[in-house]
Amino acid sequence: MEITSFEDFKLNRQLLNAVGETGYEHPTPIQQKAIPLVMAGHDLLGIAQTGTGKTAAYLLPLLMKIKYAQGQHPRALILAPTRELVMQIAAAVAELGKYTDIRHVALYGGLGPKTQIEAIQQGVDLVVSTPGRFLDLYLKGELVTKQLTTMVLDEADKMMDMGFMPQIRRILEVIPLKRQNLLFSATFPAKVEELSHEFLEFPTRVEVTPQASTADMVSQKIYEVPNLKTKINLLAGLLSDAGTFNRVIVFVRSKETAENVFKFLERKVVEEGQIRVLHANKGQNVRINSMEAFREGNVRVLVATDVVARGIDVELVSHVINFDVPLIYEDYVHRIGRTGRANRTGEAITFVTMAEEYHIKKIEGIIKQTIPREPLPADLEVTETPFDESQAMLREVDSQRKKEDPTFKGAFHEKKNVPPAKKPGAKGKPRTGGAPSGRSGARSGSRSTGRKSSGTRGRK
Ligand code: AMP
Repeated sequence: MEITSFEDFKLNRQLLNAVGETGYEHPTPIQQKAIPLVMAGHDLLGIAQTGTGKTAAYLLPLLMKIKYAQGQHPRALILAPTRELVMQIAAAVAELGKYTDIRHVALYGGLGPKTQIEAIQQGVDLVVSTPGRFLDLYLKGELVTKQLTTMVLDEADKMMDMGFMPQIRRILEVIPLKRQNLLFSATFPAKVEELSHEFLEFPTRVEVTPQASTADMVSQKIYEVPNLKTKINLLAGLLSDAGTFNRVIVFVRSKETAENVFKFLERKVVEEGQIRVLHANKGQNVRINSMEAFREGNVRVLVATDVVARGIDVELVSHVINFDVPLIYEDYVHRIGRTGRANRTGEAITFVTMAEEYHIKKIEGIIKQTIPREPLPADLEVTETPFDESQAMLREVDSQRKKEDPTFKGAFHEKKNVPPAKKPGAKGKPRTGGAPSGRSGARSGSRSTGRKSSGTRGRK
């Protein structure tokens, strides 16, 4: 049966009324596929990114199964990698469960557990938690797991990336064997596959590819930029138009770049108090505050790394600027998915150096689109590429070509007389360790390009 309306699911009136109030008109593809399966009691492997409606896809059947407040101990557990995501899921529980009396708590670290423990002691039906905090409270004897009959792992790929496997294993040991399991992941790398074997029993796999819809909603363009300094100039030029660029996320690949870009913009470009930076080294509270300030429109520019970006659910982002091309290619879709949400059009702008062309081609393959290229603004100051930066990029291009064509000898190394023995080493290590840019002065250049090779390799 073709499902076109939420009424087609066998959800109860309380849930349907809540859905009605959210303004969702039709179930999204992941909801169409997953909801009936979960309601039928299957274990599910859902490959879906944020922005596809995956949260409601598991929450609606889960709330339907829990039905109403009962007993003292939780019957369902949702694990998510970050505090931001836990809070977001808990907000969705509150929204979709508003006409039920289902009790939920959100558990995460970064603050004392007292309030969370008090909430648990009041009796709870559904727990949303980060793995670490769940385990802490369990080991303190504050959580009783024997009533758990459903468990959800959300953003499993990110949990694996963040090293939560031991905690998850530990949690699986302490919860009842007989239960329904749902695993959601944006991507499906080997580690998640392994986890799915441990966690799921005869799962049904559902997959959605939101790329087309996300990419359709967002107008995308590329600027070809010769070097790091010109990227900075371009970014400064764009952001100085505060009217157009009124709510912007600037994505960068690393914490260091995030800090550098942030400091530069804060000092020279963005009005006082209108910019924040978000990366994994920032404390939880700082991250939450920054996110809130941005969400509320009190801050115009947010500089963020991918690690923290997935939890960002902000409407009306005018622009996403990819200061550098993500090496986890799926992150491109995550990044641009921050704009063009809720049927609004947004713009995604990506800065691409010679050494990043390889990665953008791969991304274009994934999104099945060629991203249009725009000439650089006429008034942009295009700086000369420093020697070391250009060396690092050339070397990078060489190693990319070799990856595609193992017989390719490399135009760069031969010319520069790098001893052949260095080649594999240079390929496998962070760039600063290789010759010849390990010398002085190349830091900005090698920083922006050097990480690429190690990062790319890390995920293949
Ligand atoms: P998620 O993929 O769960 O992170 O959801 C992304 C966004 O889509 C959230 O802001 C949801 O409120 C919204 N959403 C979820 N389901 C629907 C739907 N059926 N129609 C429109 N928006 C939805």
